[in-house]
Amino acid sequence: MPRIMIKCPTTGQDVATGMSSPDQKSYDENEIFDHILKFCGACDGDHPWDKESAFLES
Ligand SMILES: [Zn+2]
Repeated sequence: MPRIMIKCPTTGQDVATGMSSPDQKSYDENEIFDHILKFCGACDGDHPWDKESAFLES
């Protein structure tokens, strides 16, 4: 299952949010509420994120 990723605003690296979605269609159709990524894999910080800033890993 592809992971939902965001771009770390500090380092610009792609990091996993800890969530995943079965496919792009489900991702597009399902509401995702705002989340906060804690302990970012790239910078160890906390980043609030929403669907507009997130993407499915390919
Ligand atoms: Zn980060």
